[in-house]
Amino acid sequence: MSRFFSPRLSGLAPYTPGEQPRRQNVIKLNTNENPYPPSPAVLDAVNRGEVEKLRLYPDPTAATLCDALAARFNLSPAQVMVTNGSDDALAFAFAAFYTDGAPVRFPDITYGFYPVFARLFGCTYEEIPLREDFSVDIESFMQNTGVVLANPNAPSGLALPAREIEKIARANPDRVVLVDEAYADFAEEGCSALPLLDRFENLLIVGTFSKSYSLAGARLGFALGSKELIADLQTVRNSFNPYSINRLTLLAGVAALGDRAYHASCVERIKATRARLTSALRGMGFFVIESSANFVFARHGQFSGASLYALLREKNILVRHFDRPRTGDFIRITVGTDEETDALTGALKSIIGGNTNAQG
Ligand SMILES: *Cc1c(COP(=O)(O)O)cnc(C)c1O
Repeated sequence: MSRFFSPRLSGLAPYTPGEQPRRQNVIKLNTNENPYPPSPAVLDAVNRGEVEKLRLYPDPTAATLCDALAARFNLSPAQVMVTNGSDDALAFAFAAFYTDGAPVRFPDITYGFYPVFARLFGCTYEEIPLREDFSVDIESFMQNTGVVLANPNAPSGLALPAREIEKIARANPDRVVLVDEAYADFAEEGCSALPLLDRFENLLIVGTFSKSYSLAGARLGFALGSKELIADLQTVRNSFNPYSINRLTLLAGVAALGDRAYHASCVERIKATRARLTSALRGMGFFVIESSANFVFARHGQFSGASLYALLREKNILVRHFDRPRTGDFIRITVGTDEETDALTGALKSIIGGNTNAQG
């Protein structure tokens, strides 16, 4: 740390992203990326002519993409904002809605960025313990505080039905209830809070192109809410970096959103592989939480999460391990292709089988 660093920020512990290895021969199941490439329409949209146009600034209003998202979700364009990854949307929301000294609540086990944003922007926050089975006790989010919930949650993969989100939105009428739907496309019907938007002016939904649209590298997210909430977020965004989404990413987003059949088929394949992976792991003695996302959270009685992570890493398979009291026994495994899943389950079989023999 330099002697110039702000004392207010000197204690900040930043978010730790999953590893992005440089080696090519790694099976990468650690950051919930989509194993399939983006829609072929994306490649057509991001063409040579468009690369030449990179000399021009992008449209700061991102009008074409906002219009396309509005049409998709049956909202007006003023209810939509697009951002550089949904992490930006989350950051703007913390800055816009939770810096007034009143508390914002989120679960103790959830996306690791929420407490980081809260500390960066000086928000008062409360981490509410999940139940023993990692489910959300919705009663503890009904005290008219700010609320941030990932739904489905990470790393558990558990989803709340929209009717529970509705109770939470109704119980916190004077504060913004933010639902992070990064994984909602992998969940069952009736999970997304989208149908509640016209009834709750305090409800804000954040989504991303990183997971179900295979565009993690393009950095594209969005926020949906009342036009007043969106105007507030725009004020924050335009006070920071109005050109935050580059031209190629805007084109990629419109193209990916337009190819509904491709998106649906990727999501279906991932859900089918998720079911195979879940039952294969259970067959090996893992406890696996029923996932509504593109990852599973699993624990094995004889191995710590840290040792499974390390043993898989030796076999060039990356998964994610969170070294905290209630999650330390688990590994989080992204749902890859069927081939990657077979390689993972094969590796786990040899690890676990090896241990059984050693113990006689
Ligand atoms: C992956 C993820 C995001 C978003 O990421 P971006 O790539 O910034 O859009 C947001 N929330 C959760 C819970 C996630 O897991």
